[in-house]
Amino acid sequence: CGIFAYLNYRVPRTRKEIFDTLVKGLQRLEYRGYDSAGVGVDGPRKNDNGDNVNICLIKKRGKVKALDEELYKNDSIDLDIELDTHFGIAHTRWATHGEPNAVNCHPHRSDKNNEFVVIHNGIITNYKELRKYLKSKGYKFESETDTEVIPKLIKYVYDNSENDYVSFSTLVERVIQQLEGAFALVFKSIHFPGEAVATRRGSPLLIGVRSKYELSMEQIPIQYNSIQQRNFRNRVDSTVALHSVSDRKAVEFFFASDASAIIEHTNKVIYLRDDDIAAVAQGKLSLHRMSRCAGEDPNRAIQTLQ
Ligand code: GLU
Repeated sequence: CGIFAYLNYRVPRTRKEIFDTLVKGLQRLEYRGYDSAGVGVDGPRKNDNGDNVNICLIKKRGKVKALDEELYKNDSIDLDIELDTHFGIAHTRWATHGEPNAVNCHPHRSDKNNEFVVIHNGIITNYKELRKYLKSKGYKFESETDTEVIPKLIKYVYDNSENDYVSFSTLVERVIQQLEGAFALVFKSIHFPGEAVATRRGSPLLIGVRSKYELSMEQIPIQYNSIQQRNFRNRVDSTVALHSVSDRKAVEFFFASDASAIIEHTNKVIYLRDDDIAAVAQGKLSLHRMSRCAGEDPNRAIQTLQ
């Protein structure tokens, strides 16, 4: 019942430091109650561009401490390696659909290659219809959770996009258009290395920002190319970005269900509202409204926690 995620951009961190940050984040959320815990981090494999092409999921029934021990058992993971940019996700689960076990534990994945992985708090009430539909399209489900339809659905949307280039946040928007119920979601994908997308409806989610540079939000127009304009007529027409596009600097982002997991890292936070979509790409955070809320101001104040 807790979400924690950490993105470092141009801030070198060892894998051990990243694990410690994720585990500590989950421990701060332990009071919310949970039965199992898991993390999703970049795996060791890279392509010719140096991008990570695999994601490791480590999941464990029981206490966060048991997960913590599990993280250090995996020999293929080099703990001392320094990652300049990385996005890690972590979750404590309070089972609503499917018993507490390692398979039902989050993160959930799109497929065996872990192309898209997601952590979820809440309940997807129309998961049965979505599951049936996705099964008819050949998707194989491994868990009993309501959550698993989400990573499957985003892969389905990705694989069936007419455009060669579709942004991570656009994919997420198309997914949440199909979801009913309550959710806070954080997505990670091998197709978008170093990028994060987070969204919510009915379940809490906030983002902490740490940077030695001054933080400011500014309104920027979304730049569509002509093909995208045709296909995404209904997209939101404005976005708000932290830092200007040309001004990409070292920055860290923390995503959590509760401020108690963020406060030790930074007191600068942005509370997401229902149907906000937050995306981090190249170290820049942008906020969007879902297309059905087009015209609504996506601007959210950067608050200072006391
Ligand atoms: N409904 C999801 C599940 O049972 C998420 C539960 C939670 O919020 O922890 O896996």
